Amino acid sequence: MKDNRLDFYKDFSITLFHWYSHNQRDLPWRHTQDPYKVWLSEIILQQTRVDQGMPYYYNFIESYPTVSSLANAHLDDVYKLWEGLGYYSRARNLHKAAKIVVEQFNGVFPNSYNGLITLPGIGDYTASAISSFCFNEVRPVLDGNVFRVISRLFGIKEPINKPASRKIFKDILNELIDKHSPASFNQAIMEFGAVHCKPKQPKCDECIFQEKCFAFSMNKQSDYPVKVKPKKSITRFFNYLIVGEGDDIWIKKRSNSGIWSNLHEFPLIEGQDIFNTELIDETVKIIKVSKATKHILSHQNIYAKFYRVKDVDASFLEGCIKVKKSSLPDYAMHRLMTRFLEEEQSFM
Ligand code: SF4
Repeated sequence: MKDNRLDFYKDFSITLFHWYSHNQRDLPWRHTQDPYKVWLSEIILQQTRVDQGMPYYYNFIESYPTVSSLANAHLDDVYKLWEGLGYYSRARNLHKAAKIVVEQFNGVFPNSYNGLITLPGIGDYTASAISSFCFNEVRPVLDGNVFRVISRLFGIKEPINKPASRKIFKDILNELIDKHSPASFNQAIMEFGAVHCKPKQPKCDECIFQEKCFAFSMNKQSDYPVKVKPKKSITRFFNYLIVGEGDDIWIKKRSNSGIWSNLHEFPLIEGQDIFNTELIDETVKIIKVSKATKHILSHQNIYAKFYRVKDVDASFLEGCIKVKKSSLPDYAMHRLMTRFLEEEQSFM
């Protein structure tokens, strides 16, 4: 492969700015350097496309024109405005971050990448976007559009969904970024990816970078960016036995490999492909059974039931420890366990 990096480094931003001046869309958040408004737009656009995100942006600005008004809002009202975008933790973090800005920063947004990234819900991308757009900090943004453009131009085969690849892309962008106009550079390269070097049918025939583009020269545009295939999810069935008399209860520490390593839980019988109540009935006497609950991990769907039981054979409790119910909060447990303990007190 011809290493065309040096060619690019020379005049990349000049060429890009020329394209941007003729092709940029007129978007409301491009007319402001108010970090509050830029932040809202960036968080909304992480959830949806520009045309669908626009009404949400206007609704938020109208309902909460300042960060203080958002901080003072009731979280349920913020959820209501967010309705339809999904992933409600983003709305929760918006509210939480607004409160922090008001309470810890006197209502003024931090004016640097390092300050912004301390706020909940603001990661590298959002901190780079706000700090460059509003404070002209030289911080290249790396979103899906930028990954695609850079991987095609330079023929980068490292999968973009592997965290280690970020450095390769960031290193290139740090060379390419216009040190005098980082805001325009970031907006221009994201726009170039969004409307020109699109995932499908990129406009290569009329592309300013055609002569230098690796993917175009190899006719391999659709091979970039490279992604590793996500592992297929597996489904597991967990039967948890609640064993104990009076204030005593048995728990067990998971092994140090696999999911939830070293965390505590009730003694477990894992079913093969279904909840194996018959098998449990042979082992112990069941007094009460919970409803099935689903717990999703990145590559596993876990269905769990909890059984209050008695007449448990001592051999079954091998490796378990007997503790006081009142001391359960002292043991580190996974979320499936803590959720059960919070919601199903009647089993205890
Ligand atoms: Fe993207 Fe095609 Fe331009 Fe290469 S030539 S940067 S693939 S639009």
